[in-house]
Amino acid sequence: MIPESRLRIFNQGIGSGDCIVYWMISARRSSWNHGLEHAINLANERNLPLVVVEPLAIAHRWANDRSHTFVIQGMMDNKRAFEDSPITYIPYVETKPNEARGLMERWIENASIFVIDDFPVYHPRRVMEIAISIGKSEIHCVDSNGFVAMRPGRTFTTAYSLRRHLHKSILQHMSEFPSPNPIPSGSELSRYPEEKVRKIFADSDTPITPYEFIWRICEVQDIGLDALSVLIIDHSVPPVQHVAGGAKSANKRWNEFLNERLMSYSENRNQPELNGSSGLSPYLHFGHISTHQILSEIFETFKWDISQITPPNDGRRAGWWGLPKDVESFLDQVITWRDLGFIHCATVKNHHKFESIPEWAQQTLKLHENDERPYLYSFEEFENAETHDELWNAAQRQLRTDGMIHNYLRMLWGKKILEWTPTPEIAMEYMVALNDKWALDGRDPNTYTGIGWVLGKFDRGWTERPVYGKIRCMTTDSTKRKYRTKKYIETYSVSPSKQQTLFSNVAANHSNIHYERRN
Ligand SMILES: Cc1cc2nc3c(=O)[nH]c(=O)nc-3n(C[C@H](O)[C@H](O)[C@H](O)COP(=O)(O)OP(=O)(O)OC[C@H]3O[C@@H](n4cnc5c(N)ncnc54)[C@H](O)[C@@H]3O)c2cc1C
Repeated sequence: MIPESRLRIFNQGIGSGDCIVYWMISARRSSWNHGLEHAINLANERNLPLVVVEPLAIAHRWANDRSHTFVIQGMMDNKRAFEDSPITYIPYVETKPNEARGLMERWIENASIFVIDDFPVYHPRRVMEIAISIGKSEIHCVDSNGFVAMRPGRTFTTAYSLRRHLHKSILQHMSEFPSPNPIPSGSELSRYPEEKVRKIFADSDTPITPYEFIWRICEVQDIGLDALSVLIIDHSVPPVQHVAGGAKSANKRWNEFLNERLMSYSENRNQPELNGSSGLSPYLHFGHISTHQILSEIFETFKWDISQITPPNDGRRAGWWGLPKDVESFLDQVITWRDLGFIHCATVKNHHKFESIPEWAQQTLKLHENDERPYLYSFEEFENAETHDELWNAAQRQLRTDGMIHNYLRMLWGKKILEWTPTPEIAMEYMVALNDKWALDGRDPNTYTGIGWVLGKFDRGWTERPVYGKIRCMTTDSTKRKYRTKKYIETYSVSPSKQQTLFSNVAANHSNIHYERRN
């Protein structure tokens, strides 16, 4: 049984199909996945076959070569994970807009219960809402996102308030870990007949995605780009060649961080020239790795168990887990800050809009809306890294090249957009568009709360200044004084197509991974 707090049931009792379907749209993994575990449990209980469909849509604003490649590389890992089990796994890449909707409708009609990932933002949220509205089967929406379930029955306006809640409820969350490897528990299931799969695709006029297509995209370089060129998506955002998607790469990167860098995390994570943070956000975003796995392996490494915990009940950030300082600092990011974003977006529908910023922050920004800006740039100037500020330009070029901006510089990047646009609404719009388009971890709850933080969300008032009002201000000069940035600026000083990454030795380097070509 998965925890009740992670399951929402719609259209109860409707549906007479001959299988359980799991529509894998955000927790794109075969392990540590509440959604998959729930679908297997249902299939066992009802003695029905289980079909897992992992779709990738093109009919959304930011579909591009970068995110498509990352997700499709993950499909290859998932395909392997299900290969020896009776569970039917179908990776499916949409070939024309809204084709996936017709396919989903057919699968809903054929399902006894339709299980779908519950993700609070962007396209996956829309897909889930459509699935519920079709009304032809019982829909189970499963939250496999964070350590804290994203609908705890209340909202949190600060990290402090979530920490206090966490201190009180930690025992509950520690009991909500999913199974590390749920597939073997479906080993007695019957297999869904292949002819039926073909018929469902044919009835909805949808082509089955050939293995060859997936393999080609996993090859990246020209073969991959050539394969992607047939899709109506944005081809101007290229794949990040040195960051491969999928559970395998996620695990490589995670293990490398756990073994080599976690113990210097609090010191190094803010240093732009050090590879001090985990780099896991794209993998967490697409669900290629789970927070529960990360936590479980930390606990195992440090031989930690719940008896070592002393929850202080005072909202304290660290010093209560009974783990080393760096580990607690990492836990605060991957639990408190990450889950704060999911909980916020699950309850605040306009999370990506200026109106979702706290009242006090909106007021102070509006009061300073007519203040003279030192510089004003258009969207294109920002996008092409054409400001007067070499550090800002380098951060923007890193976003275009690596699909990421360094942790600390990401905050500076946002603050300067606020300072150099005519209004805070425009600043928010630009930040969301730039991040959603170029970042591998974009279109995530933490995209909208991270950008919201730039405008005062989850923060407090600071000394009043021009343009910012009481919003926390950051400056390039003080960043340069605090941290080394020369090498960073040099690395990202040339046009994106000619750049080297600063961290080309990261464990998930694509050249280490080879896919077997099969028919
Ligand atoms: C303007 C702006 C935009 C942002 N856009 C995104 C985004 O599109 N996607 C995204 O996942 N995060 C975003 N963040 C939050 C944060 O910057 C990234 O999560 C972090 O830099 C990812 O790097 P990492 O995986 O190496 O993090 P690590 O430091 O290794 O942390 C581990 C994980 O904890 C979570 N985490 C860390 N810091 C934060 C934070 N401040 N808020 C929420 N979760 C956090 C992430 O899931 C991260 O992968 C944004 C922040 C700002 C200020």
